[in-house]
Amino acid sequence: MCKIEQGSRRLHLQGTKIEPTSLEENFVGFCERCGGELLSTAYYRSGGGWLVAACCERCGHMLLIKYDRSWEWQGDSAAEVIEPRPTSLSYLPREQLETVFSPAELKAMEACERDETYVRQNLSRARVKYDKFERLFGQRIEI
Ligand SMILES: [Zn+2]
Repeated sequence: MCKIEQGSRRLHLQGTKIEPTSLEENFVGFCERCGGELLSTAYYRSGGGWLVAACCERCGHMLLIKYDRSWEWQGDSAAEVIEPRPTSLSYLPREQLETVFSPAELKAMEACERDETYVRQNLSRARVKYDKFERLFGQRIEI
């Protein structure tokens, strides 16, 4: 099942994340469960075609509809909405981070997140503290 982040509508599909190209609401068909109207919530480019996230107005059923490049229907699959995870440091309040991590550790985490070079030891030290950070602030860091 694919997952769609609430808010950003970023699509998680087979280990990759795809940003929506459009958040247009269009009528895209009828719900197979209740016959209600399906409205698109986001459009994505994928491979040679398109993926459209849609939601039933009546029962809330979510699905992902696959089209080829000429908008021929290819199939549907189930989708669910998830809360975005704070995978980015910029989501987290600075003072919370500074409570747990040293400046050197934060620097390593930020550099790693941006794919820049960093001091490996500092990142290892930071990673040991992720549990503590989660206990204190209820957010799991994934860097
Ligand atoms: Zn429905």
